[in-house]
Amino acid sequence: MPTHGEQTTIPVKRVDGNAAAGALGEILRLDVTTAVAECRHCTASAALADAIVEQDAEGTIVLCRSCGHTLLTYVSREGRRYVEFAGLASLTSA
Ligand SMILES: [Zn+2]
Repeated sequence: MPTHGEQTTIPVKRVDGNAAAGALGEILRLDVTTAVAECRHCTASAALADAIVEQDAEGTIVLCRSCGHTLLTYVSREGRRYVEFAGLASLTSA
């Protein structure tokens, strides 16, 4: 057990992005209604179901209920889908 101030070396391997598929697949399949989102702007954490959503024919914008900043943006246009998690510090499954 390292004491305060000591550094430990944890072995890390570098491989290509295929190695992340399993982990990302798990988090992207989570129940988003109960997942807890942490806002990058105000650090508030709340269930994604409690966020504010603005929608139109092409997209969805999810806003932090605490500060009103954008947590994530989803756009579907011409058969392509785009998602941006710019304001999301983290997303945790319940
Ligand atoms: Zn916020």
